[in-house]
Amino acid sequence: MGRSRNRHPGNNYVLVIFDSCRFDSFLKASPRTMSKFGRLEKRWSYASWTAPSHYNLLSGLLPHSNPKHVFASQYYTRDFAKFSDRLGLKDIKFESLIPKLYFPSFLKEGLGYRTHAMVSLPVLNPQTVLNHGFDTYRLMEKHNDMRAMVRSMEFPEDRPSFYLLNVGETHYPYALPGEPPEKWPRISGVHGVFKHLDSQRVGGKLKRPRDKFFNGRVMKTLHERQVEAVRYLDGVVEELFDLAPKNTWITITSDHGELFGEADQFGHGPILHEKVFEVPFVDGRLR
Ligand SMILES: [Zn+2]
Repeated sequence: MGRSRNRHPGNNYVLVIFDSCRFDSFLKASPRTMSKFGRLEKRWSYASWTAPSHYNLLSGLLPHSNPKHVFASQYYTRDFAKFSDRLGLKDIKFESLIPKLYFPSFLKEGLGYRTHAMVSLPVLNPQTVLNHGFDTYRLMEKHNDMRAMVRSMEFPEDRPSFYLLNVGETHYPYALPGEPPEKWPRISGVHGVFKHLDSQRVGGKLKRPRDKFFNGRVMKTLHERQVEAVRYLDGVVEELFDLAPKNTWITITSDHGELFGEADQFGHGPILHEKVFEVPFVDGRLR
């Protein structure tokens, strides 16, 4: 109520990536706020880990719907045309991205957007090539605090804003900001490399599937922690909805899924399994 509406042509656009959030975790969490503004779809990520998946997302290709009887090029063109609705601007075409094929640059240079990224995982840090076409690009202090991102967002009235939010609460160890690190679950062999929060090295074939760390109960607990993270994030997203002006389009999705013991594997990255590609997708405009 009483939400302002920016005066500029074009919608603000916020792309929220719940890192590692598997589709069924989102479904099980049944988040009220996030389900209210758009239909939840099951989609598939183009990549199995954080860096290539974010590059793909920032090239304007959101998780795909695994369409049948269509050539890839036709699908890209059709899918990208939906940005006309998202941005509230006519004639947004995939060809508009040529030659850079990079969405933040297109928004900034082609359409006059202010462009901002706030990322949780160091593998996406500001020194990476992903930081192209952004006015500001921040690696957050904590890897699991979306609320800190929302609280620093601004939507000036003169020009539309684009935000990429890479959210870490849903990434291993699925910890909420208030949970002390000594209470986080520790998986031997994963935790050691996790100190770098390098998703590339999190995941892989479990060497000792019968190890007690990798038994069904532990994996179930980890999966449940991801579900809880989504429930918690629903409240943070509500704060984002309250803050953003009416003409703001928000997409909530994930960069890839996660394995919780399927095929004796945990995590994501060097894994070929359909659950690593299944992601939630909710898309809509605030009213
Ligand atoms: Zn990721």
